[in-house]
Amino acid sequence: MVEEQLIPRGINNQKVLDALSRIERHKFIPENLKKSAYADFPLPIGEGQTISQPYIVALMTQYLGLAGKERVLEVGTGSGYQTAILAELAREIYSVERYDALANKAETVLNELGYKNIKIKVGDGSLGWQEAGPFDRIIITAASPNVPEPLIEQLTDNGKLILPLGGGFGQVLTLIEKKGDKIKTTDICGCVFVPLVGKYGVPN
Ligand code: SAM
Repeated sequence: MVEEQLIPRGINNQKVLDALSRIERHKFIPENLKKSAYADFPLPIGEGQTISQPYIVALMTQYLGLAGKERVLEVGTGSGYQTAILAELAREIYSVERYDALANKAETVLNELGYKNIKIKVGDGSLGWQEAGPFDRIIITAASPNVPEPLIEQLTDNGKLILPLGGGFGQVLTLIEKKGDKIKTTDICGCVFVPLVGKYGVPN
């Protein structure tokens, strides 16, 4: 997966490559799909949701530029795979998931794997996690037509936020950088994600 899908497409952050090599992706995949765990596409994880393609997980993580001391908010725990990658590369991970079935399953796997720096809650992640913020990095792994305002507020100065921005059938992976009262926006590439359903995303 790392040699065939990630390195040739420009993932060159060694810590990111090492994390994706180390973490057993099949542990986060439903039993009947385990044979495709390392394939180059997203897979269903239940509740109509997906685990993202390995390359997209790596790309989003690389753009976060993690040095190891950050507090990170993840919106959309899903299977917990991206959460594990973040937990290897940053200090504390706060992850919000809409479906309790997914949050519970992810928490079980992450506990079995021994992670101690992850907190998961069930709720509308478009509101962020006010009591736990602010965050040095925020990753939204579901598509939103605009950047949820509470998440910009919960981002530290010099913080970075990455999300698939747009609606419908395709979005643009977008990096938001906060510097004082300025927001810099960088388009990265086209992508396709399930919607961020919530108050500041797609209405339920
Ligand atoms: N990063 C995940 C992984 O590694 O498996 C994949 C995430 S999946 C593409 C998007 C997730 O966002 C789904 O599990 C979905 O239920 C969740 N989601 C959608 N809207 C949400 C919201 N408002 N708050 C929290 N989670 C949300």
